[in-house]
Amino acid sequence: MIDFHCHLDLYPNPWQVVEECQIRKVIVLSVTTTPSAWHGTFALGASSPNIYTALGLHPELACQRRFELDLFDQYLPLTPYVGEIGLDGSPELQGSWPMQQDVFRRILASCAVAGGRLLSIHSRRAIIPVLDCLAAQPDAGTAVLHWFSGNNQELTRAIEQRCWFSVGPMMLCSKKGRALVAKMPQDRIITETDGPFTRVDNRPLLPWDADRAVSVLCEIWGLPLVEAREQLLQNVQSLLDRHTKVLGHAT
Ligand code: MN
Repeated sequence: MIDFHCHLDLYPNPWQVVEECQIRKVIVLSVTTTPSAWHGTFALGASSPNIYTALGLHPELACQRRFELDLFDQYLPLTPYVGEIGLDGSPELQGSWPMQQDVFRRILASCAVAGGRLLSIHSRRAIIPVLDCLAAQPDAGTAVLHWFSGNNQELTRAIEQRCWFSVGPMMLCSKKGRALVAKMPQDRIITETDGPFTRVDNRPLLPWDADRAVSVLCEIWGLPLVEAREQLLQNVQSLLDRHTKVLGHAT
């Protein structure tokens, strides 16, 4: 089971969630929304070999927390994983747009200087600007577009730019989401929840709920469950292999 974009630190009972992840052997990319949250979130996964903690600065907080960029650079050598980062072009965030771009570009530049990172990227209403920033920093690392919500043309460009995609149960609820996923390369897809921000049955999605996406992927791919799971495991392994080598030691 794989949840490659989850805000473990934002659950009301994070240690309980971590314990359950260990029992269920869920592979988790635990993203953070601010550099100042790094140490606390890292501690949550520190004794779980399947929890990988990413250093992030969420676009919705980029403006308000831009002074934490120095902290970002300071912590970057500690992890091969970066997220949640990106851009958000929603109308309510228009005021912070120039600053969001500054922050995102600076983060990508830091990642390039550091030798590349695995990047979990938010791109709501901002796919093209995100892809432009990535194209300008080809050494920033491997981009995993989380919850892709663009159109077909944008998807084609993202695929051409060698992006990966993390897809969750919410995205697969809609016909549009399923049609997009059907066009994504099968060997560049992994599952996610974006919990606790996403909800089902009046409760937040938990990391193991990423499994709900797998049965939909089976239908889309025309594969039996066991083969779809195998494909996803191979995908996550090849993604992690690329970046655990970055720092020259196992993480
Ligand atoms: Mn998120």
